[in-house]
Amino acid sequence: MAPGKYHLKNGTVVSMDKSIGVVPNCDVLIDDGVITKVAPSLSPSGEYTVIDATDAIVSPGFVDTHRHTWQTQLRTVCADHVLSDYFMHIRCKYGSCYEARDAYLGNYCGALESIDSGITFLIDHSHIMNSPDHSDAAVKGLRDARIRATFCYGLYKNPAWPGSAMDAEREEKTPDWRFEDSKRIRETHFKSNEKTDVLRFGFAPAEIESCPTDELIMEIEHGRKLGAAVVTGHTGLGRWDRGLRLVRKLNERNVLGPDLLFSHGATFQDDELDAIAKHGIGISSTPDTELQMGMGRPICFKAHSVGCNASLGCDVVSSAPADMFQQMRLALQAERHAKHYEAKGAPFVVSHRCEEVLEFATMGGAKAVGLADVIGSVTPGKRADLLLIKTTSARLSPVGDPVMALVLYANGSDVDTVFVDGEIVKQNGKLAGVDWLKVRGELLESTKRIFERSKRAPMDAIEAQAMPIMRMYAGETE
Ligand SMILES: [Zn+2]
Repeated sequence: MAPGKYHLKNGTVVSMDKSIGVVPNCDVLIDDGVITKVAPSLSPSGEYTVIDATDAIVSPGFVDTHRHTWQTQLRTVCADHVLSDYFMHIRCKYGSCYEARDAYLGNYCGALESIDSGITFLIDHSHIMNSPDHSDAAVKGLRDARIRATFCYGLYKNPAWPGSAMDAEREEKTPDWRFEDSKRIRETHFKSNEKTDVLRFGFAPAEIESCPTDELIMEIEHGRKLGAAVVTGHTGLGRWDRGLRLVRKLNERNVLGPDLLFSHGATFQDDELDAIAKHGIGISSTPDTELQMGMGRPICFKAHSVGCNASLGCDVVSSAPADMFQQMRLALQAERHAKHYEAKGAPFVVSHRCEEVLEFATMGGAKAVGLADVIGSVTPGKRADLLLIKTTSARLSPVGDPVMALVLYANGSDVDTVFVDGEIVKQNGKLAGVDWLKVRGELLESTKRIFERSKRAPMDAIEAQAMPIMRMYAGETE
C-alpha cells in the first residue's frame, strides 16, 4: 500500500523519544511518509485510513547496523561454526557459488525476512560482488523488498575455483574492477543519496584487519570520494584480534569521521573507544555471531557508557535468523551474566535495564548510521518507519511494562503491521504485496543450485589458503 494518510488509533506508544516517552492510549498520524502527530485522542480533519492499535504497542522499527544480507540461502550452515569455519565455508566456498540471480534472491528474501520481524532499516555490508551483474542484483533485491537500507558496496573478492560462479579471467586481468564498478553502482542506482532516500549508497573496504594500513586508507577515501553515506568494516574481533589496533592507527592518520561504522569491536581499547566517541562513529555489536564464533563479549554496553553510538546487528542468517528481538535478549542477558560473574558476591541490583538495549536496537542504530534525525523514534517530523506489535498472544497477555515486553517477550510473530517510509510493507501479520509461495519456490531452487555447485569446491586447497589467514587473525603467526 502506497504512502498516504494513516491514523494509528489508541495504541501504547513506546516512542524512544525522551520528550515523549511511553504513552498509553495514544494516536499517531502519518502524512505521506512523515510522522506528523503523536498524542492521545486525535481527531484529524481530512481523509485518514484508521488503523486500530488497541491491544498493540506502536514502536519505531528496528535498525540493524550489520548484515550480510545475501546469505539467506545458507540458513543453518554456520549454526555450529566458529569464525574460521565461517570464513572457509561461507566466504571461500558458498560465496563463490552465487550467480547474480542468487544474489538478488538472497538480498530480496533477506530484506523480506527482516521486515517480517520488525527490522525497517539495515546496513547491507555486501560482499557478494562476484560480477557487475551481482552488484546490480543485490541493490535490486533490497529495492524490491521496500526496506530502508544503506547498501555498502564491498570490495571483497571470493575465490575463483574451477566450477565456481566466478569469472576467473576477469579477476586475473582486472583484479581492481570493483573500484570502477562501485562508482558505476553509485551513479546508476543512487543519484541523490540524500538522508531521506529509502535506499542509500555506502561502502565496505575489503578485509580491513588484514590489508596494509595505507591500502585501507586508500579504500576508505575511495568510498568517501563516491559520497558513501556509511563506510563500514569488521575490527576488534575478540579472540580473532591479532592486536593490530586499527582504530588507533586510523586516528593517528586523521582518517576517523562520523561516516565510519565498525562492526564487532569487542577488543577495542579505551583510547580507541574514546576516539570513536569523539568522532561520532558507530559501533555495531552482533551478539549472536560474536558469542558463538569467538568474537568476544559484545561491547555495546561499555561503548555506550563512554559516549559511543552503540547499536546492534544480526550479521548473518547462515547462523541465526534476522531477529532483533533475539539480538536484544542475547546482548542484555550475556552482559548481565558477565557483570554478575565479575562482581564479588550476589548481585542485589541488576546491572543493566531492558530500556538500554531497546535504545541500541532503535535510536542507537539510527545514530550509528547517521540517521538520528530521520528514523529511530516515534517523533513528529521523522520518516514513518513504525511497528504495530499486537499484544493479544498468550505470551503477551497481560503486557505489564511495554518496554520489557518488547525486549524479553515479543517475537516476530507479534509484529502485525510494519511501515517503511509511511508505506505498509506488512499488514495483518503478512508481508504486503508479496506472493510468498512463489518467492519461496524460487528461493529453494536457488538454494539447490548453490549447494549443487558447492560440491565442486576444492576444500583441501581452500583450507590451505584460508587457515593461514585465520591463524594470522588469531595472532598465531604474522
Ligand atoms: Zn560481518
